[in-house]
Amino acid sequence: MLKIPKSFRFMGKKWTVVYRDIPDPQRPTTWATTYFGPQVIYLKPGLHPDSLAQTFVHELLHILFWELSLNRSNNIDSEKEECLVDALANGLYALISEKVIDVR
Ligand SMILES: [Zn+2]
Repeated sequence: MLKIPKSFRFMGKKWTVVYRDIPDPQRPTTWATTYFGPQVIYLKPGLHPDSLAQTFVHELLHILFWELSLNRSNNIDSEKEECLVDALANGLYALISEKVIDVR
């Protein structure tokens, strides 16, 4: 089981995790949103722990893409970034949850 912190430091920045629905008319069914300015990840409350953990990994990868400028330096638009982040998050979460990577 992946433990989701209430806050964490990553690449020199403090991030906060908040459980709250974010009304987004363009993505009405979204489970999470990351705001880079205030350094906050919003996660939808009430998700199954597996979905919550996978979604958290997904948002962390968006932060990694942002911090490493992977999107801007590789001409990756937001739609392509979403596909890449989703695939990588699903794979990374599987590696963690199936204990190929043991993070105890
Ligand atoms: Zn995303």
